[in-house]
Amino acid sequence: MKTKKILLPDNELPRQWYNIVADMPNRPLPLLHPGTKQPVTKELMNRIFVEELVHQEMSTERFIDIPERVQDIYRIWRCTPLVRASELEKALDLPSGIKIYFKNESVSPAGSHKPNSAVPQAYYAAAQGLNRMTTETGGGQWGSAMSMAAEMFGLDLRVYMVKVSYEQKPYRKSMMNTWGADVFPSPSDTTEAGRKILAENPNDGGSLGTAISEAVEMVMTHPDARYCLGSVMNHVILHQTIIGEETLRQMEMTGDYPDVVIGCFGGGSNFGGIAFPFLRENLAKGRKTRLIAAEPTCCPKLTRGKFEYDFGDVAGFTPLIPMFTLGHEFHPADIHAGGLRYHGAGTTASQLYKDGLFEAVDIEQVESLAAGVLFAKTEGIIPAPESTHAIRAAIDEAEKAREAGEDRTIVFNLSGHGVIDLYAYEQYLSGALKNYTLSDAEIAKTVSRLEKLA
Ligand SMILES: *Cc1c(COP(=O)(O)O)cnc(C)c1O
Repeated sequence: MKTKKILLPDNELPRQWYNIVADMPNRPLPLLHPGTKQPVTKELMNRIFVEELVHQEMSTERFIDIPERVQDIYRIWRCTPLVRASELEKALDLPSGIKIYFKNESVSPAGSHKPNSAVPQAYYAAAQGLNRMTTETGGGQWGSAMSMAAEMFGLDLRVYMVKVSYEQKPYRKSMMNTWGADVFPSPSDTTEAGRKILAENPNDGGSLGTAISEAVEMVMTHPDARYCLGSVMNHVILHQTIIGEETLRQMEMTGDYPDVVIGCFGGGSNFGGIAFPFLRENLAKGRKTRLIAAEPTCCPKLTRGKFEYDFGDVAGFTPLIPMFTLGHEFHPADIHAGGLRYHGAGTTASQLYKDGLFEAVDIEQVESLAAGVLFAKTEGIIPAPESTHAIRAAIDEAEKAREAGEDRTIVFNLSGHGVIDLYAYEQYLSGALKNYTLSDAEIAKTVSRLEKLA
C-alpha cells in the first residue's frame, strides 16, 4: 500500500529554527533610516518591535532554539501532515514517476501557517513584560493567528484589517473577536495615515501597505505598545522554517527527495519556511532541488519588480528595506488572494532571488482558483486562495515533466484552507472572477518613483 500521509512523533519534532542568513553567499543589505540613510539603530527597532525579535532579525546564528513553551503550543497541531496528493495525481493522469506531495499547514487552529510565527512573537512579547500589541492583516489570516497567540499569552491586540477583506470576510473578524482582539477596517479614521487616505478617496479599499502605516503610527504614539508583522521580516521567515525542517524529515520517511519545492509568495514567509531548509541542503550538500515562488500576476514583485531600497508601507513610516518591489505606492487590484497583495518581498528572499538561488513564476487568479477547485474535488481540502497559486504551479511543473518525459518529485506548501474565504470560490463558480492584466506602464509608474529614494 502506498503511504498517503506522513507524520512525525512528538519527540522527533524539530527543536530549532533555521536561519538562512548564516549560509547566504551574500548577506542581506541593512535596513536604512529614511532620514539619515544610515542603517537603522537597534534602539529604533526596539521602540517598534519586541527586543528578542529584533535580536533574531539581525542574527547570523545558523540555528535558534525554539522555547519549550512555544514547542508546547506548536504540539497542539504540529507536526503537520505531509500528504501524497495521489488523488490529484490520478485526476491529472500522471505517470508513476511524477509525484506530488503537499505539506498541510491548513490544520493549525487559525487555518494557515501564520501561527508558527504568531506564537513565538506573542511569547517573546509577554516575556519582555509588554501587554499591548498592534498589527495589520491582509486576508485576515495573520490577524486571526496573532489574535489567538496574543490571547494565549495574555496580551491585548489591535488589528488593522485591509478594508476589502474586512468587507468580504466578516467571519475572519468574528474569529479575531472570539480570541479577544479589537479589529478596525483600514484605512480607518483612528490614525493620521488612515484619515489622509480617506480624505483623498473615501472608497479606498485599503492595502497591506496602508494597514502597516496605521499599525506603526499607533505604536509610535503609544509607548507601551509594540508592532508585529506576519511576513517579510527575517525573524518571521525564521519561525516558519519549522515547516521545511519537518518536511525534510518527512520526505526522508517516504524514500523520495524533492526535485521541486513550491510555495505561494506574499512577503515570503511560507515560501521561505518550506524552501530555505532545502536551500541549505542545496548549498551544503550540493543537492539540486529547484525552489519556486508562485506570485499572482497582478502583484508580480519578483518577476516584474525592481531590487531597490523602498518603504514597507504606503505612508513611508517604516525603515527603507532592500527588496524586490513594485514601489510602495503600488496599489494592487482587489484580487481575492489578499495575503499576496503586498508590493515588496522580504530582504533575505530578495537577496537570494537576486543571487539566482530560487525561481519565481506568476499565476493568473482564474487559473489558480481552477486549480484550487480541482484540488478540493480530489484531495477534499478547499485551499486558501493564496495557496491555489502554489497548487497551480505544482500542476504546471507536473505537466512540464510529463512533456519532457522526465520523473519529478514535487512538494508544495498548502499554506492554508479557504473555508473562511469562500467569497473567492463563489465568484469563480459563477464566472464573475476575472484575470487582471497589469501593463508595463502601470508598474513603471510606481517603480520609477523609487529612484529618488536611493
Ligand atoms: C499570509 C498568507 C500567505 C502569504 O504570506 P507569505 O508570508 O508570503 O507566506 C499565503 N498563504 C496564506 C494561507 C496566508 O495566510
